[in-house]
Order: sequence, then C-alpha cells, then structure tokens
Amino acid sequence: MSRLYNFNAGPAMLPTPVLEEIQAELLDWQGKGLSFMEIGHRSQYFQDFREQCDLDCRELLGIGKQYKILFLHGGASSQFAAIPLNLLGNSATAAYLDSGHWSLKAIAEAERYCQVKIVASGADANYTEMPSPSSWQIEPSAAYLHYTPNETIGGLFIKDLPQTDLPLVADMSSCIMSEPLDVNQFSLIYAGVQKNLGPAGLAVVIIHEDLLDKAHPKTPTTLNYTLQAAADSGVNTPPTLAWYVTGKVIAWIKQSGGLSVFADLNQRKAKLLYDFIDQDDFYQNSIKPDFRSVMNIPFTLRNSDLEKSFLEKAKAAGLLGLKGHRSVGGMRASLYNAMPLAGVEALVAFMDEFKKRS
Ligand SMILES: *Cc1c(COP(=O)(O)O)cnc(C)c1O
Repeated sequence: MSRLYNFNAGPAMLPTPVLEEIQAELLDWQGKGLSFMEIGHRSQYFQDFREQCDLDCRELLGIGKQYKILFLHGGASSQFAAIPLNLLGNSATAAYLDSGHWSLKAIAEAERYCQVKIVASGADANYTEMPSPSSWQIEPSAAYLHYTPNETIGGLFIKDLPQTDLPLVADMSSCIMSEPLDVNQFSLIYAGVQKNLGPAGLAVVIIHEDLLDKAHPKTPTTLNYTLQAAADSGVNTPPTLAWYVTGKVIAWIKQSGGLSVFADLNQRKAKLLYDFIDQDDFYQNSIKPDFRSVMNIPFTLRNSDLEKSFLEKAKAAGLLGLKGHRSVGGMRASLYNAMPLAGVEALVAFMDEFKKRS
C-alpha cells in the first residue's frame, strides 16, 4: 500500500499519522470495546473529547474566553445563511467584500435575508487582485463586514485585514490554522473543515459572545449560534466522526510544533511552486504577486491542448487532484498543512519533466 500525493482542494489530503491512529482504534477505541463512531454524543467520553478539542483550538489560535467555538453540521455553506440570520439584529444591511467565487456564494445567500452592500470588488481585475483599501466603501449602518481572505478556487489571498469598526466576519475555510492568527481582530471566523482540518460535513465557528443573542426568531434551531453555544454544539446529534477526526488533526498540528511551524513550511512549499511556474511562460499563474494564495495555486499551460495529457501523466506519476475547479478550468495545486514539502518537490519535478518533453 502506498499513499499518493493528493492536491485536491477539498476534501483534501489528511495527515497519514492521523489516519493510522484512526485505523488502529477503529474497532476498539481506547480499550472501551467499541468504535468512537458508536459512542453517544452526550456520554462522558464524548464530552471529554469535546473539551480537549476546544482546549487545543484555544491554545493553537490563542482564543480567549470571550469567544465560543462551535462545531456545526452543514459545512461552510450553511454558515452563509446562518451569519445574516444570527448577526443582522435590527439592521437590514450587511457589507461584503467581493473577492471571487466563494465570497459571491456568501453574498448570494445573504441577499435572501438582507440588503448586501458591496465594499469593493475584484471583478474588474478578473480577481487577480483587489482594489486598494483606500477606495473601499464601507456602509456604516451594516450589521457586519464579511470577507473571504483566501479564495480557494481563484487562488487569491487578501493579506491586509479590512479596517472597520463593524464586526468583522471571515470565511477561513481554506486558510484556517495555516499560519498564526490574531483572533481578537475578528468577531466571527468560520471554516468548513475539509480543506485544512478534517473530513467533510463539519464547520468550525469561532464567535465573540457579543454577537450572540441577536438571532432572527425564525432562524432554524440547528443554525442558531446562541442555542448551539448554550448546548455545546449539541442541539441535535453532531457529526461525531467528522468532529473526532478534526480533533485528531488539530492535535497533530499542535504536536508538530503549532501554527508558526506550518506557516513557515507552507511558505516554503508555495514559494517552490510559484518560483518554478514563474521561470518562463510554459506554466502561468495570473494572480498579482501581493495577492497570491499560499494554500491554493491555480495554474494554466500556455498550450491548453496539453492539459488533458498533463493531468493523465500527473496521475500516473502519483500526483492526484490537480484538475482546476470546473468553473475556471486549468490546474490547481492545494498545499494545505498535510501536504509535505516532498509532495511539492515531486510536483515541481514532474512539471519540469513534462515541460521538457512537450
Ligand atoms: C470549500 C469552501 C466553502 C464551501 O464549503 P462547504 O463545506 O462545501 O460548504 C466555502 N468557502 C470557502 C472559502 C471554501 O473554500
């Protein structure tokens, strides 16, 4: 058996030691005679796990007591609806930054509940960069400002934190725990865990207490952050397995040295690939250097007729998941925490060989 390098954007590569641990304890979890999957979510066993996972998150991200950490069903997309439902309060307006595919999904969902004021848009630049913050129009009556720091499909990353007095809300699905973060600058951070933290179906929501107690009365119970916070994310049966695997990945991040170790490794991986792409125009990445994502690197071939052969040969070489998103085509390499440097080295060596032979 050999594990290949999986560059999928999500569900994405998981750390092998985590999968091995899960395999070893699948039938008999910690000598309890049953699998973790079969344990009641209200049992002491689960509560102990949940508390440890909460502590690990707090330690890694430096999250203070004034924040609740929720683990909820329905991935990041359910939060697109939950955020306006929970945060609008008496306001009829929310401010959104348009940075591409995922921010547009969040905007479309929010428009079902309120008026969305676009702060700024990267559309005119085809999302290869964002307008300078000095040109942003932030509606002061908005309930919050939402942005997507890392656009997983476009490969655009917004380094500078939006400057605003509004509660700042960030979709960090594809960048959470990829580098240290000052959580205190945000009112709410959310992420679907299947990019950098675990398997699909679960979202983590880090919410400041000040944002609780504002939910619209018609908010579905499972999407109500106030009720979920009071119930330790258990208003109904949570996705216990996805949560458990996520807990293990978070513990692995901690044991591996924490977020600054991964920030450094992730920078090295991304630099290796970008430097290679930039050598000549056989491969291309159109994102302006200041906005290039460290996690998701889309690229095209000068001769797009070669794409099919590129993907087939990459797969034969043990490099999986390199096809770009169906909305943009081309290729994309996602380099989350679980992707080792050796995987990126293998990718670059393959790309170099492919270039020479084409
Ligand atoms: C993948 C992704 C989503 C959607 O996540 P789901 O869990 O599939 O709903 C939302 N935002 C970003 C930035 C993503 O990368």
